Amino acid sequence: MPRSLATTQIPAAEILAVGSELLTPFRLDTNSLYLTAELNRLGIAVRRKTIAGDELENLTEALRSACSRSPLVIVCGGLGPTADDRTREAAAAALGLRLRRQPELESQLRAWFARRDAPMPEANLRQAELLAGAAALPNRRGTAPGQWLERDGCILVLLPGVPAELEAMFADAVRPRLVPYAGVAWRHEVLLLADLPESQADALAAPLYTAEPEVETTILAARPGEIELHLRARGAAAAPGGALERLQDRLAAALGERLAAGQASLEAAVIQLLRRHGETLAVAESCTGGLLSARLTSVPGASQVFLGGAVAYSNLAKRSLLQVSAASLETHGAVSAAVALELAHGARRRFGADWSLAITGIAGPEGGTPEKPVGLVFLACAAPQGEPQVVERRFQGGRERVRAYAAAVALNLLRLRLARGERARQEAAPAARVEL
Ligand code: AMP
Ligand code: MG
Repeated sequence: MPRSLATTQIPAAEILAVGSELLTPFRLDTNSLYLTAELNRLGIAVRRKTIAGDELENLTEALRSACSRSPLVIVCGGLGPTADDRTREAAAAALGLRLRRQPELESQLRAWFARRDAPMPEANLRQAELLAGAAALPNRRGTAPGQWLERDGCILVLLPGVPAELEAMFADAVRPRLVPYAGVAWRHEVLLLADLPESQADALAAPLYTAEPEVETTILAARPGEIELHLRARGAAAAPGGALERLQDRLAAALGERLAAGQASLEAAVIQLLRRHGETLAVAESCTGGLLSARLTSVPGASQVFLGGAVAYSNLAKRSLLQVSAASLETHGAVSAAVALELAHGARRRFGADWSLAITGIAGPEGGTPEKPVGLVFLACAAPQGEPQVVERRFQGGRERVRAYAAAVALNLLRLRLARGERARQEAAPAARVEL
């Protein structure tokens, strides 16, 4: 007996990404990430994702099993005009339906080409074919219409693979059709931790999760040197004062200053703290070659506090741009605590900044020695008051990882100094808080 369509909520969907290129190292399926976020926003979970190549039999089988399993199957890709675009044929074969050319779709296609003064290739006529019983979904960014078909307890949605086309079509024609099936949307919170091994972060956080079992939690190595704790809940657990907020508070208490509180990135945290204090920053970069400056300038409003940076890659640049002494370079080498400190002082002076950060290290793969191996990085931070700070780190991994790690640790170094300064000031002036 055919399953009947749920008239209210669809608990879980599945996504089928189609394209042989998605099974090579050169193309990543990003459409399913977009679709998952959108479905979650509608309170629909994603139970399974599949990637299928363009072979008709394989694709037919993938479609048949998805439709027999799930109340909602969203397929992306394979609606193009070329011979390797077989999603329509595969869906017809999987469901035992005919494909019919629709005169209105054909005239829309012809009009699309006419507007561009281009002849329509014969192959594009395939895009005017609809599964029997399906509704066409308009494509305002391209030629391939999508399809929406309800059959035997399954909603099958066919979308184009080009991300811009898929996203517009989802917004225009799929989301409104899914609203009647929507559930309770999730609330999603991200806590950012820096410069902490994932195992250590997990050891601190995991015991707290059990106290709030309604909250789904994931620990994610977001970028080198950065970890994200993702918390997700819905319904009562997501309400103000509910399980999600309780867990957030417990985590904040347990993780303390390791948490870049309330910020999506370390650079945003640093910029916010500097703005709050009315202080400025300059940087000197050697092995990171501008990564640190790029991260800082990615934050809107950074110009109020970030004065600039110097990429002082060669010894000559270190000397002429930032007044690093020949003696330090000679005695200690460019990758040393002494040179990191001089770079930080130089940047602070040169730009007239309150704070500075400096990075010098060996990113590899060549250039390491037994005393100074690849991954050795010195990071320095100079402050308006108090001692400058220098730390020595040995990062593991390839060139890009070492560079990214160094930029993250430098940002975190400054974030911690600024946050501690702020706390110290608050503790020194408690009277302001006393209510009479
Ligand atoms: P198609 O609709 O299969 O002709 O796909 C057109 C183009 O969209 C492909 O060449 C890819 O560049 C891109 N594309 C297809 N599927 C995906 C996907 N799942 N994620 C990101 N891009 C995709
Ligand atoms: Mg394709």
